[in-house]
Amino acid sequence: MRNISNSILIFAEWEEQLHYFKQVVYEIGIKSCQLANVFPGQVNLVVLGGNLPKDKKTLAFADRIYHYPAAELKHFDVRTYTQVISQLIKEIKPNIVLLGATPLGRILAPRIASRLEVGLTADCTALEIDNTGLLQQIRPAFGGNIMATIVAKKTRPQMATVRPHVFSKDFAADLVCKKNPTIIKKRLIFPLETQAVKIIQTMVNDTKLVNIEEAKILVSFGKGIGKKENIKKIYQLAEQLKAQVSCSRAIVEAGWMNHAYQVGQSGKIVSPDLYIAIGISGAVQHLVGIRSSKKIVAINIDKEAPIFQLADLGIVGDYEEVLPELLNSLIS
Ligand SMILES: Cc1cc2nc3c(=O)[nH]c(=O)nc-3n(C[C@H](O)[C@H](O)[C@H](O)COP(=O)(O)OP(=O)(O)OC[C@H]3O[C@@H](n4cnc5c(N)ncnc54)[C@H](O)[C@@H]3O)c2cc1C
Repeated sequence: MRNISNSILIFAEWEEQLHYFKQVVYEIGIKSCQLANVFPGQVNLVVLGGNLPKDKKTLAFADRIYHYPAAELKHFDVRTYTQVISQLIKEIKPNIVLLGATPLGRILAPRIASRLEVGLTADCTALEIDNTGLLQQIRPAFGGNIMATIVAKKTRPQMATVRPHVFSKDFAADLVCKKNPTIIKKRLIFPLETQAVKIIQTMVNDTKLVNIEEAKILVSFGKGIGKKENIKKIYQLAEQLKAQVSCSRAIVEAGWMNHAYQVGQSGKIVSPDLYIAIGISGAVQHLVGIRSSKKIVAINIDKEAPIFQLADLGIVGDYEEVLPELLNSLIS
């Protein structure tokens, strides 16, 4: 693509029912403002379907909002979304395009990249930019053992998806995001490609109610709890702490819990105020998911367990002995 602008374009993914955007959109927005501080350019947002959120303060990271209110775009359809966003990219020629690494973003981003014949870095956990506008797209590689920095020197736009919860969502703390966005209403001036999916009915998936990414306190457990029946002890502690329960991948693989509860590289990245890890060894793929926790408490029988390297407080011992004491002290 020629005559590239300096701008960044962010895809605004809707949360349930078109009321507000997914939190990752705001996280990418704030990060983009910081990038635009180093390499000046506009931060723009593309919104498909629905009405814009009422609280405009939350959109203060954007210079421009390209809003397509067309009814045909109310529900996600990968073909039409790819078509509309690719068209907009050709029109405004951003230097960078960012999407959340959500299930939807992971389907959509590669299609757009393929249509534009550009590269895509998936699941970035950090982004930096130099003064020429070259984006350093940083993500774990080789099972989380190294952090790889990927750059696209030849093609534009530079495209990446960003993991939820790796960037700040704190607008108050971020002074660079105080903009008053211009809203540009866009009409579809071209026929949409045939929609691949016909929506007959939408239903809320129960597992969506499990939102470990938003939890303030997580009581997380791993294979060290021994057997499935012991999960009730974990729930007892969680109840006392008004916490959410989560787990390691070994637990999901054993079929003891649903994937919605899994923390880590192939699960969810969490950022609670308190993360309690019970019988979790602390494999790199698990640690990737808990690094943004404010405080980590680990209970493990093995004093050499890697989880202790990251923990703020480590309790070496059999969790079956530690938990009752912990519960008693909480009750009293
Ligand atoms: C590509 C890839 C992606 C992955 N993604 C993830 C991911 O997203 N999340 C994830 O968690 N893992 C992930 N893994 C798997 C990861 O490598 C580990 O296998 C997994 O995290 C181990 O789970 P665990 O700690 O529960 O079990 P284990 O490794 O079996 O550890 C159990 C721990 O419990 C302790 N223990 C035993 N008995 C007790 C007791 N009575 N009291 C206290 N402690 C006790 C042990 O000392 C041990 O440290 C991934 C692996 C790969 C290859």
